[in-house]
Amino acid sequence: MKNAHYPFELPQLYFPENALEPAISGQTISFHHGKHFAKYVENLNAILAKFPEYQETCLEQLMCQLDSLPQAIQIGVRNNGGGCLNHDIYFRGLSPKPSTPTGALLDAINQHFGSYEEMKQQLANESIGVFGSGWGWLCYDPKAARLCITGTANQDTPYEKKLYPIVAVDVWEHAYYLDYQNRRPDYVGQMLAHVDWEHACGIYRNIIDGGVDTPF
Ligand code: MN
Repeated sequence: MKNAHYPFELPQLYFPENALEPAISGQTISFHHGKHFAKYVENLNAILAKFPEYQETCLEQLMCQLDSLPQAIQIGVRNNGGGCLNHDIYFRGLSPKPSTPTGALLDAINQHFGSYEEMKQQLANESIGVFGSGWGWLCYDPKAARLCITGTANQDTPYEKKLYPIVAVDVWEHAYYLDYQNRRPDYVGQMLAHVDWEHACGIYRNIIDGGVDTPF
C-alpha cells in the first residue's frame, strides 16, 4: 500500500495462506488477512468516499496528519487507516523462509542492542507486554538517528510517535487466538521466527539512504 491512496485495495498475500504453518495456521491467516485486514480497507474507503479532498493523499501522509483532519473523520481514519498501514507492514514482513538480519541493519542492531538475539528478546518482551490489543515494533527514530523498540495501542501507528516502522508484531487476539488462545508469548516467539529480514533490511537501507519522505 506504500504511497497508495483512495480507493485503497487489499494487498495480496505473497505467500500461500498455509505457508507459515505450524507457526501460524492457514485459518488464522485467512481470517486475519481476508476478513480483518480487508475490513479496515473497506471502512477506510467508506470514510474517504465522502471526503474527496483527501482522496489523493497517500496513507502514510494521512496517518501523519491525523490532527489536521476534519473532526468527523479523525477517529475513523486513525483506527481504519492505522489498521491498513499496520497490517500492510505485518503481512509483507512475514516469510515462510527463515532469515536473519544482514548488512547495515545487522550492524545497527549490534550497535544498539548488542546482538540480534538481544534485540529479538526486547522486541518479544515489548510485544508480549502490550496491554490489550496493539502492536510491538522495531522502528527507526530519525531524531535520535537510531533503532528503537516500542509498542502502540489499538491501531495507532509508529508515525504518531514520529518513528519509522521496520518490523511489526500484531498482538491483537485475532492474530493468534485460533492457534494459541491465551499463549501470546508462544505466538510472538513463533511469529518472530518468520520475520522476512531481507525485506526489513531493505526498509532500513531505504530509510538511512533518505528514501523515506514521510512528512513528520
Ligand atoms: Mn491484526
